[in-house]
Amino acid sequence: MHPLAIRFQELFGEAPEIIAAAPGRVNLIGEHVDFLDGFVLPFAISDLTTVAIARTSSNQIRVASLQKEGVISKVEANKLEPKSGEAWTRYPVGVLWSLGIKSGLDILVDGQVPLGAGLSSSAALECAVATAVNELFNLNLSLPELARATQRAENIYVGMPCGIMDQSVSLMATKGNALLLDTRDLSTEQIPFDIAPLGLELLVIDTQVHHALVDGGYAERRASCEKAVADLGITSLRDISVSEFVARKAELDEKTYLRAFHGVTEMQRVLDAVALLKAGDFVGFGEVVTEAHQSLRDNYTVSCPELDLAADIANKFGALGARMIGGGFGGSAIALIKAKDGELIKSEIKDGFMKAKFKNPRFFSALPSAGAAILN
Ligand code: ADP
Ligand code: MG
Repeated sequence: MHPLAIRFQELFGEAPEIIAAAPGRVNLIGEHVDFLDGFVLPFAISDLTTVAIARTSSNQIRVASLQKEGVISKVEANKLEPKSGEAWTRYPVGVLWSLGIKSGLDILVDGQVPLGAGLSSSAALECAVATAVNELFNLNLSLPELARATQRAENIYVGMPCGIMDQSVSLMATKGNALLLDTRDLSTEQIPFDIAPLGLELLVIDTQVHHALVDGGYAERRASCEKAVADLGITSLRDISVSEFVARKAELDEKTYLRAFHGVTEMQRVLDAVALLKAGDFVGFGEVVTEAHQSLRDNYTVSCPELDLAADIANKFGALGARMIGGGFGGSAIALIKAKDGELIKSEIKDGFMKAKFKNPRFFSALPSAGAAILN
């Protein structure tokens, strides 16, 4: 029996009907463009969130998480209300709401994706629930449909205006590949990123800081990109080339230009990165990743001293490329490194952070893994 089935039985006094798991992710390149119809290139990590679920004859939804000490929270199944209930329960319950499930369920969660480290434990949780429920209720929804449903859960039920990337990759990833995702139509292409046999790995550096401004800063930058689209009279930043955008610089104010410049160039960088990976040029790929950091720092202005230092030290001690990931103003950075340099790079970053009087960073290493699956 799956270990989570045993815990489920202890907690709810019955056996689960289904167990499903979904991974967290890192995004190689394509940052802050998933709400601009842009391209992104994430991969699923090997850390999973697992859920066990059983239908019940009551009209209560009971949810518990081993990361929340297995305390059972209860919600009336026919009275689901966005932004209601205990904060963490909004992720799994939001998915039920989004999928139109109104019957009684018991749900137990066990998340091995580090929470709040920029590895998207939230999408892992949502996608594990969606995968289980899709099977349990024979909904027959496609992966893009499940991606949209889980995004709607996070946007409306949780109240977090995230894009579609995290859920898409958690559902659609395949082992040894990164997922090129076109956020305009959710079309995908698996891009070989089997780095382990090449002696490479992706190091995740969690700076452990979260500077204020995150929510406001994010919305304000998004608004700048929308203003650029309106001022230029185009449908999307996706529909203008870098050279055309630069040629029309005079039509935008400085701040709007710089922020939208990040969006337009970042979409091109994703395509450049994909071409380099297809050619097996990991050195060239690393350089594009570092250029993305520079653009996030200088144009989009969402970096912070901790992220800059982490990326700079990684590059100085042999990384092929490094950049901040996620919303910004803290959180994590990634570095594509030779596995043999891992210990040196980690200790140099630790030392550098200590000298700068920053918090003690955490490290994770990530390899491209498979997406969500039913486990029983
Ligand atoms: P990230 O997605 O980068 O990890 P978020 O803030 O988007 O960070 O999501 C983290 C939140 O998701 C947690 O604070 C919690 O509410 C919820 N969550 C994720 N995994 C679990 C889990 N295993 N058990 C309970 N809550 C979880
Ligand atoms: Mg999240």
